Amino acid sequence: MPSTWPPHAPRSFHVLAKPSGAICNLDCTYCFFLSKELLYPGDRFRMADDLLRTYIRQLLESHRGGDVVIAFQGGEPTLMGVDFFERAVAYARELARPDQTLQFTLQTNAVLINDKWASFLRRHDFLVGVSIDGPREMHDAYRVDKQGRGTFDRVMAGLEHLQSHGVDVNVLCTVNAANQDHPLEVYRFFRDELRLNFMQFIPIVERATSDTLTIANRGWGDGNRSRPLYVNHGSSVTDRSVGSAQWGEFLSTIFREWVRRDVGDVFVTHFEAALASWLGVPPAMCIFQETCGTALALEHNGDLYSCDHYVEPDFKLGNIRETHMVDLVASPQQVAFGRAKRDSLPRQCRECDVRFACQGECPRNRFLATEDGEPGLNYLCAGYLRYFHDIDREMSMMASLLRAGRDAPDIMDVLEADERERFRGVGRNDPCPCGSSQKFKMCHGRLRVTS
Ligand code: SF4
Ligand code: SF4
Repeated sequence: MPSTWPPHAPRSFHVLAKPSGAICNLDCTYCFFLSKELLYPGDRFRMADDLLRTYIRQLLESHRGGDVVIAFQGGEPTLMGVDFFERAVAYARELARPDQTLQFTLQTNAVLINDKWASFLRRHDFLVGVSIDGPREMHDAYRVDKQGRGTFDRVMAGLEHLQSHGVDVNVLCTVNAANQDHPLEVYRFFRDELRLNFMQFIPIVERATSDTLTIANRGWGDGNRSRPLYVNHGSSVTDRSVGSAQWGEFLSTIFREWVRRDVGDVFVTHFEAALASWLGVPPAMCIFQETCGTALALEHNGDLYSCDHYVEPDFKLGNIRETHMVDLVASPQQVAFGRAKRDSLPRQCRECDVRFACQGECPRNRFLATEDGEPGLNYLCAGYLRYFHDIDREMSMMASLLRAGRDAPDIMDVLEADERERFRGVGRNDPCPCGSSQKFKMCHGRLRVTS
């Protein structure tokens, strides 16, 4: 431990450990994380056992109590084998203080998950994130193996093992050019066919410069031998990236369905974060917080970076074999990184009516100029503006219900009564009174409400 506790050390923080570095058994076309292999040429990309123990010890020492999340991601962390994780759990249980509660998490493509894995993960109450991009044709558009074959069937087999053992599963779905126009199909597939009720949607925004765009469009996997190291530079995006307006529409469309029938049963991280913002409490997602800097990434060799999205030479804080993690987390470099999220906001964001919920989203996506020509506007701004305005009425109603001591799911009854009244007498083929210019049966008439 450091001899004095650093003044800027947070009470708790989050580290994504990457025990196999960027190495993965798949070759997803949009996954620029694969290119991070170029940071460590000739490396074996396997976290040594003594480093695993050092990492867990420092993580626990750096937390001043309460819940400690021990998170593994990749690349593909299951390439390390179950025994590696058995040791991780044993070290954590041995080193945790009595005032600490442990939560293990693992993000995986699920291809290697079998009975043995599933039973291990259940035994230790892991929360497992599984990457799925929707039904087969959407998933297989970019989530391919080293031979370029779709992975849908193998992912479904892994998921089945997890579900049959009762493992807590959270689906992580990227939103990209292949699925951006199918929000309800994606959402209903997860909810109704896969019976998953924890969902996280991540917009794919792959930045490139005019020099790198052609190479970037070929993908980031091993199949593209000329790929560069991905860094957050450039104001072009690849063909696979989600459109800004489509991203907003994707979230808004799912929200309209969720808020009328799934509140309390299905958890969508974007909606939970928004509700927190409408209630005036800090949301759990760093992208919607005013400042960040407490979600770091640990490479297989002990190098600690400011964030998983900034595993780049300029954002390396140091190595935990040489400097205790708490000193790196509280270092002036990291404190400045976290504050820059707020301090670099352009005026358009500072004066924006949904800033309280958006906060300019993640700095990695801020590469447009504002209407005044100021740099630093988020590429997803148009989508977020639309989405946050779309959800305002229902979010305000839910926040009021909660403040009045009622439950968030009560919103569904309130809306149903309200819409029965509003749409009384509207025929199925009439234009929807909401102004969408769709037929009623294709718009509000599709929801729970009947005329
Ligand atoms: S840079 Fe973005 S993803 Fe990283 S901690 Fe900040 S807001 Fe979160
Ligand atoms: S919606 Fe756009 S202008 Fe408003 S805070 Fe977000 S990025 Fe900034």
